[in-house]
Amino acid sequence: MDFEKILAEISDEIQPFFGEGKVANYIPALANVDPRKFGMALVTLDNELFEIGDSREKFSIQSISKVYSLCMALQQEDQALWKRVGLEPSGNPFNSLVQLEYEKGIPRNPFINAGALVVIDVLLNHLKNPKAEILDFVRMLAGVDDIYYDYAVAKSERETGFTNAALINFMRSHKNIHHPIDQILDVYYHQCSIAMSCVELANSLLFQANNGLERGSKKRILAANQAKRLNAIMLTCGFYDEAGEFAFRVGVPGKSGVGGGIVGVIPNELAIAVWSPELNNHGNSVLGIKALELFTKKTGLSIF
Ligand code: GLN
Repeated sequence: MDFEKILAEISDEIQPFFGEGKVANYIPALANVDPRKFGMALVTLDNELFEIGDSREKFSIQSISKVYSLCMALQQEDQALWKRVGLEPSGNPFNSLVQLEYEKGIPRNPFINAGALVVIDVLLNHLKNPKAEILDFVRMLAGVDDIYYDYAVAKSERETGFTNAALINFMRSHKNIHHPIDQILDVYYHQCSIAMSCVELANSLLFQANNGLERGSKKRILAANQAKRLNAIMLTCGFYDEAGEFAFRVGVPGKSGVGGGIVGVIPNELAIAVWSPELNNHGNSVLGIKALELFTKKTGLSIF
């Protein structure tokens, strides 16, 4: 398949959609990003890389980081985790308080903010130096060393993260949080602030297209069954209250972040990442979704 040509076509065809969304501004440090950025990269299981646009520029990965921390938690305690966090699509915004109250402090899934905070609480049972270990894990998956936290973004989020503070306090009152709240929020804001490019993101999730095996070294990241489940969670919960529409339009497991990034996985084929900072009102990248929709339409590659 001529991926190079397909990416070039997509890059042309998404142009009319600039201006339809808005750059996230509830995290002040994210508001300054140039809305016209657009990058895309895909890596195949044969280790071929195709890219276009701003594919090597780093941006704030935000909630895409929830995939990495969930993966690390699954490596530690697979069964126990699911007693504390659910597995159903939320149908609600990623920071919904109402739903958490109805469900008595058990988050619907690990990709809404409340769920990601519980995942970090679980990780803190196992990691000695969580921030360093999370960063090392991401670097190892991406195959590069120069991936860092963006401390300005982490600080900005911490200063304005009142809803996340409310979510975690509420879960604590239901005894679903065991470590100090400040410590968990600190790890959460740092993991969200990680800056990566489309090329790095696509490389980092290629193991999910390879049944849990890292491509180069054949190192096992997750058991095949766990990788299948992680893909299932991405498909059903990766886009919050737009997960159904993403599955309908694109048809692959994926994860978005309010930095405008999206990573998608096509099992046994490839991993793909796209970045465009303008978001729709679900907090997902407008052009990112459009680009992936065009990609699966043009290539016929999807899980359906
Ligand atoms: N750091 C963001 C927050 O907690 C992550 C949200 C997202 O990317 N959907 O609000």
